[in-house]
Amino acid sequence: MVSTALSTELQKCVRCGTCKTLCPTYHLTCNESFGARGRVVLLGELCSDKLAPNKKLAERIYSCMLCEACKGVCPTGINIPEVIYKGRALLKKSFKKGYISKKALRTAITYMNSTMPFARVFQKLFYRPFSRTFGLRYFPEISSKPFNKNIQVYKNVKKTGRIAIFAGCNVNYFYPHLGYSLSHGLLSRGYEVVVFKGEECCGAPLRSMGLEDEASDMARRNLDHFNRVRADAIISLCPTCTLVIREQYPLIVGDTISNIMDLNEFLIKFDFIHDLEAATGIVTYHDPCHLSHGLGIREQPRKILNSIKGLEYREMKHADECCGFAGLFSMQFKEMANTIGMKKIENISNTSADTVVTSCPGCIMQLESLCRKAHLRINIKHMVEVVDEAMHGH
Ligand code: SF4
Ligand code: SF4
Repeated sequence: MVSTALSTELQKCVRCGTCKTLCPTYHLTCNESFGARGRVVLLGELCSDKLAPNKKLAERIYSCMLCEACKGVCPTGINIPEVIYKGRALLKKSFKKGYISKKALRTAITYMNSTMPFARVFQKLFYRPFSRTFGLRYFPEISSKPFNKNIQVYKNVKKTGRIAIFAGCNVNYFYPHLGYSLSHGLLSRGYEVVVFKGEECCGAPLRSMGLEDEASDMARRNLDHFNRVRADAIISLCPTCTLVIREQYPLIVGDTISNIMDLNEFLIKFDFIHDLEAATGIVTYHDPCHLSHGLGIREQPRKILNSIKGLEYREMKHADECCGFAGLFSMQFKEMANTIGMKKIENISNTSADTVVTSCPGCIMQLESLCRKAHLRINIKHMVEVVDEAMHGH
């Protein structure tokens, strides 16, 4: 049974096409049904029973990158990414692509701490040795020690303030060194740091699979844990986590973690951008979709990079266009993801920068994978690493 609220929302579409002009999958395919407007119209037909759920319809709705480029542009006020999530929940049984990997991912996310050690063994013995032969996606090694393995409060004699970290799954399991860079930087400016073991996945991958109830359960558990933490701010190193917690939790469970902040927002607001110095080099910046389109954070990262003595900042062309990662999209729509990604690599390469900086561990994973394919030798860094290094003058 389709919700009346969704049906009413979809009926507001006047077919103006504003949303499709910003849609990367429409630009790539030049196919209306693979664009924002087409998806809204198709979901409207589904909700008014003119279309029955089917494989092709599901493919159109699941091929959305959830990049948020179309968010806020609709003159009638439709929140397009949000209706896509709701549409996926209606079509999840019709979308069979990557059935086994989706099942595995769902289990891994739901029981993260107990499944990751097994995933690590599987990755070592089977996935990595055969990934090139079978053209499988590159993944960094799963860490044997997740960042948030234990509850930890790093005390500080200076007591400038108290900051908690929402690390996110990618940092916890693939890039724990980013979490350590963050705590290192905070401690050296006198903050007490809280690393919280009770953290669960923010729920974004579950929502993207159409699993709304499961994502809501995760959200409730995170709210329960984090709203009990006393801190001046809770910093996230992943814009998807920040976006989901700040803007989607209120829609799915009616509450949020009020002081969650993206790293870039934090660094500006808490006056971290002074006395920063790095080894000489040329840097460029890639905007993660959920940071730029989703949270509107575009100026802050540039301001931070430009404040670091020794760095020359070069803007790449189309810096805010997607790198093609988009979570599960890069596994389910490999060709599209690769074409979008290779354009990004070309734009990075044209700057002749020696480092590309971004603010999202998912983008880092995608850029690492693309650079390997394109044989492009360039440093790929998260903003937290660049700032941590610059704080200590190297
Ligand atoms: S979220 Fe991105 S990919 Fe999806 S419809 Fe909107 S612009 Fe297109
Ligand atoms: S911008 Fe809004 S009204 Fe216009 S086509 Fe897109 S969803 Fe419909």
